[in-house]
Amino acid sequence: MTRHTKIVATLGPASSDPHTLERMLHAGVDVVRMNFSHGRAEDHVARAMAIREASARTHRPVGILADLQGPKIRVGRFSDGRVTLTKGAPFILDARCEMGDIHRVGLDYKDLPKDVRAGDVLLLDDGRLKLDVEHVAGAEIHTRVRVGGELSNNKGINRQGGGLSAPALTAKDMEDIRTAAEIGVDFLAVSFPKSAADMYMARQLMRAVGGQSLLIAKIERCEAVANLEEILDASDGIMVARGDLAVEVGDAAVPALQKKMIRAARERNKLTITATQMMESMISSPVPTRAEVSDVANAVLDGTDAVMLSAETASGSYPVEVVEAMSRVCLEAEKSAEVTLDRDVLNRVFTRIDQSIAMAAIWTAHHLKVKAIASLTQTGSTALWMSRLNGGVPIYALTPEPSARNQMTLYREVYPLLMSQTHQDRDLMLWEAEQVLLEQGVVAHGDLIVLTIGEPIGSTGGTNTLKIVRVGEHLLPTQVSSPD
Ligand code: PGA
Ligand code: MN
Repeated sequence: MTRHTKIVATLGPASSDPHTLERMLHAGVDVVRMNFSHGRAEDHVARAMAIREASARTHRPVGILADLQGPKIRVGRFSDGRVTLTKGAPFILDARCEMGDIHRVGLDYKDLPKDVRAGDVLLLDDGRLKLDVEHVAGAEIHTRVRVGGELSNNKGINRQGGGLSAPALTAKDMEDIRTAAEIGVDFLAVSFPKSAADMYMARQLMRAVGGQSLLIAKIERCEAVANLEEILDASDGIMVARGDLAVEVGDAAVPALQKKMIRAARERNKLTITATQMMESMISSPVPTRAEVSDVANAVLDGTDAVMLSAETASGSYPVEVVEAMSRVCLEAEKSAEVTLDRDVLNRVFTRIDQSIAMAAIWTAHHLKVKAIASLTQTGSTALWMSRLNGGVPIYALTPEPSARNQMTLYREVYPLLMSQTHQDRDLMLWEAEQVLLEQGVVAHGDLIVLTIGEPIGSTGGTNTLKIVRVGEHLLPTQVSSPD
């Protein structure tokens, strides 16, 4: 059985050895996430090579996603490594403090005192601790502990309601974009963007160093929620980054936002990754909780392209089992998902020929109940349009471009396959496509399939032809009769 929803897994100490990585790919990982918050440039290059090698050995297409650290605003270090803050106690965040103690701690974002004022609520360590700001004096933010607990070195700080001014791309991020381009990553995730401008800047930096990756905006700031539409227009996809997002907007607001964001992205032909704590308990347990199973299944029903694993595969004890569990839950949820064509999209006016063919192919495939769609594509854009419509027919995207194949690993309901580009003749190309599908065992002689292709062969964005074929009939035009 083929799974429609894709799985993104984060690489880390628990998953870096080639054998484990290979087993994770066999278990169903479609995209590997490299977290640029950890490691140096040469580590990233080596990891990327290991991923590409594992992909070749397992004969599975795998995308690589580089996730930039972004301006995570953090406390400094403590002389004892940690302190325990008690409710009601005063505590100072001091931009000039070198080494922290029970009374004060330093800040790595020195402008934080300029951003906050009396009455603000600061959340530390993903919201586990809460501080009420009483007043700001120069470089010092004087607070009182509302919710206490242990606070250790370099924990993150968020302001409830958002509004911190740190720029989305730090000097480190700009350097990391260069590394990502060198590696040739398929996706670049930008952390904490606030507006479309942040995404344009990331894309410009990426293009300037020759990178072609798709851009994913992590929605984890209040401002990003407010600017969702312009951010979508400036990006290829979004990540519902529920960890930081929950801290900024309040945890209870996240489930509804997740649905809204996935819907908005699909309507604009954009991708979505639903992330953070999806199988959190499997960091240390071989089975997920009931709540985690429901969470993954609900993201599938919301229409997400992919579900993501973070610490579960990066540092957990069950990096293979968690992928198997996630895959199993996705498959089951997909069985119950309603297959109704997205008519809102179909009613739109298309200005592009290739987009019109994509829509016609889905419409035809859905109503004729064909076995598969085969789309011969250079860039993958035809497959992307098809996958936004929820046609319920698997889309096999055949491309001669390894980069297009790797990018399509994230598209829901799309199965990327590499084919040679030796033929200049359309019929020979279609014949080869049919052979690839037969070899993969996804169609059999006598099955009805829908094919799309562009003429002349090999031109980008040139899909202009739709053909309905019965497999094995050598691509002669086939008389089809309505099944009912
Ligand atoms: P992070 O992003 O894990 O890089 O912080 C995801 C999130 O915030 O949910
Ligand atoms: Mn985050």
